Amino acid sequence: MLRIHCPYCGVRDHEEFSYFGDATKHYPGLEAEHHDGWVEAVYMRNNPKGVHHEFWQHTMACRRWLVVKRHTVTHDILAVMPANERPVQMPEQRPAP
Ligand SMILES: [Zn+2]
Repeated sequence: MLRIHCPYCGVRDHEEFSYFGDATKHYPGLEAEHHDGWVEAVYMRNNPKGVHHEFWQHTMACRRWLVVKRHTVTHDILAVMPANERPVQMPEQRPAP
């Protein structure tokens, strides 16, 4: 079981949270010419091995959005920050070689 330190509520079981995917994805503009970019952003997923930045929401308590820096092999949680305080340019996750 993962234990996530919510910056607002403290340490809680991961069952109180909902996972919402890769926090490093870049979404294109809403213009029609970005159709292929939206297909890429919405449907294409990497399966990273190593450190990954992920969106989680504390759905069973404060409902705040968080960015969790987690190692996908060890499941160690290395950092948690409010999603609205994340850097504008999150590191792009590359697929494992
Ligand atoms: Zn919380």
